[in-house]
Amino acid sequence: MSSKKDYYEILGVSRNATKEEIKRAFRQLALKYHPDRNKSPEAEEKFKEISEAYAVLSDDEKRRLYDMYGHEGISGRYTTEDIFRGADFEDLFRDLGFDFGFEDIFERFFGFKPEFERRRRDLTYDLEVTLEEVSTGVEKEIEFYKSEKCDMCGGTGAKPGTKPKTCPRCSGTGRERHVRTMGFARLYTETTCSLCHGKGSIIDVPCPKCGGSGVIRKVRKVKLKVPAGAYDGLTLRLKNEGDYDPDSKKYGNLYVIIHIRPHKLFIREEDNLIYDAKVSFPTVALGGEIEVPTLNGSTKLKIPPGTQHGTIFTLKGKGLPHLDSYGRGDELVRINVVIPKNLTKRQVELLREFERESYKTT
Ligand SMILES: [Zn+2]
Ligand SMILES: [Zn+2]
Repeated sequence: MSSKKDYYEILGVSRNATKEEIKRAFRQLALKYHPDRNKSPEAEEKFKEISEAYAVLSDDEKRRLYDMYGHEGISGRYTTEDIFRGADFEDLFRDLGFDFGFEDIFERFFGFKPEFERRRRDLTYDLEVTLEEVSTGVEKEIEFYKSEKCDMCGGTGAKPGTKPKTCPRCSGTGRERHVRTMGFARLYTETTCSLCHGKGSIIDVPCPKCGGSGVIRKVRKVKLKVPAGAYDGLTLRLKNEGDYDPDSKKYGNLYVIIHIRPHKLFIREEDNLIYDAKVSFPTVALGGEIEVPTLNGSTKLKIPPGTQHGTIFTLKGKGLPHLDSYGRGDELVRINVVIPKNLTKRQVELLREFERESYKTT
């Protein structure tokens, strides 16, 4: 085992922490140390540590063994791969927006690809929101196509009143045995049944609504909440809103990927907003007041005399709300001095005079 540190200490939870508390603690730490976000070498080590602690403490049996026997209780019984198997990392990381390349990360860290239960019927949806919507959070209705359980046959694929019957070729096993004779030897091989394709049953009279597939395509409308402070790439999981799988009789999940529409006035940097203000030379030289837009209305900003080009003024709390904690970022106003063009004769005279005066004083 790589880590001999106390798993509870690693996650910063008490020994009688609930499952929810353990999950919450791991989410917070994963956001901080996930290699997609944190490129320092310590982060990689830390990420391994917290993942291992979470894998053990989120599993009742592993946690019990750890509580009783410490690290020996785990390492004596499980291989590294077994420690991680069964933990819901995939769902967790998807929730955090980390899904992509997730298995590769594990392979790099631990030398194996985890065999997590892959949901084959998951759907994704790309949803664009504005910075104004991110500022407050917003409820959206989305519309998409999905497969649902056929409501006429209940997913069996057989016409109501009839039943799928046991496959006569494989007697319901879904497997077919082939015998080959080579000299005196008989060779047995097994393949998927060619009549029922492994299902074990066949449909005599297909359901007229779904044609025997057990699923129908439908337009589905769902409302969801985009949280305040959502960032580009944030992925929201809507449980059981994916396609229906007639074999496992389960629905997949729908993953809504948030995209932030570029804004006309603001550049986002984490939860701060950057606004480039154009200010005239007299205003920065003499001082004055300018009007600055924010995400909700505009506000006045005092410019002190002698303000330099590129100076940044901070409007506290006028940025975006933090997603995982209280408070908001700031709006940073960057001063861009505008150099006048197409001067009038009088302006030229004044500037010449200004220039002569400047030579005297410097
Ligand atoms: Zn049907
Ligand atoms: Zn069969």
